[in-house]
Amino acid sequence: MRKPYIAGNWKMNLTPSQAAKLAKELAEALKGSTTKVMIAPSFVSIPAVMKAVKGSDIIVAAQNMNDHENGAFTGEVSAEQLLDLGVKDVILGHSERRHIYGESNELINAKVLFALKNGMNVDLCVGETLDERESGNLEKVLTDQISIGLKGVGKEAMEHITIAYEPVWAIGTGKTATPEDADAAHAIIRGLIEKLYDKSVAEDLIIQYGGSVKASNVKALMAKENIDGALVGGASLSTEKFLPIVQFDK
Ligand code: PEP
Repeated sequence: MRKPYIAGNWKMNLTPSQAAKLAKELAEALKGSTTKVMIAPSFVSIPAVMKAVKGSDIIVAAQNMNDHENGAFTGEVSAEQLLDLGVKDVILGHSERRHIYGESNELINAKVLFALKNGMNVDLCVGETLDERESGNLEKVLTDQISIGLKGVGKEAMEHITIAYEPVWAIGTGKTATPEDADAAHAIIRGLIEKLYDKSVAEDLIIQYGGSVKASNVKALMAKENIDGALVGGASLSTEKFLPIVQFDK
């Protein structure tokens, strides 16, 4: 039985004090929640957010991480630095990292391996552009992103991996994939994982959908067999919008 997992990617929004306020409200409101919840603030907000959620089950994740131990990598953040703050989860391969900052499948793979080596959990984002979907390349894109992204990841490490399917054309655009289209893409991903690993790894894998998830569409998405959670951008930036998404089953 896969436990629902809802995550909020705050991107480059909120000051540390605004982030701490939102995190505190969420921790208060989500007391006793059975849904797994993660929030990913900007690096600079992490210490304040960690303090705000202390004692709650909310997971605080980083939005990105470097694939080197330390050194001359100006502007980058290491696993060691995150772990020192108590952060054990990281989003990797977000479409904004891929498309704005040119991160390749190979670089994302190096980051995934480095995170796992450091005992961290990874939320690996994959998803196609509109062009790729319309030209019939959805399966190929997902296959490349997943088989390269997870290269060298052993079966036993797969319990530390969540995959977020986020069609690029649906992120921050207000357009959501239909529950049927999202479920079909998730089924492709689950099938791929079965081929790369085995049936039990595929059945246990949590696959989140991301792309303009909001209170009005989350129920229909979560009702689909292969959709186990959501990675939420814009609608995770206020308690008012994020709470009904986390509480989709109420
Ligand atoms: C995201 O950033 O991962 C995302 C899905 O954004 P939004 O919910 O705003 O589309």
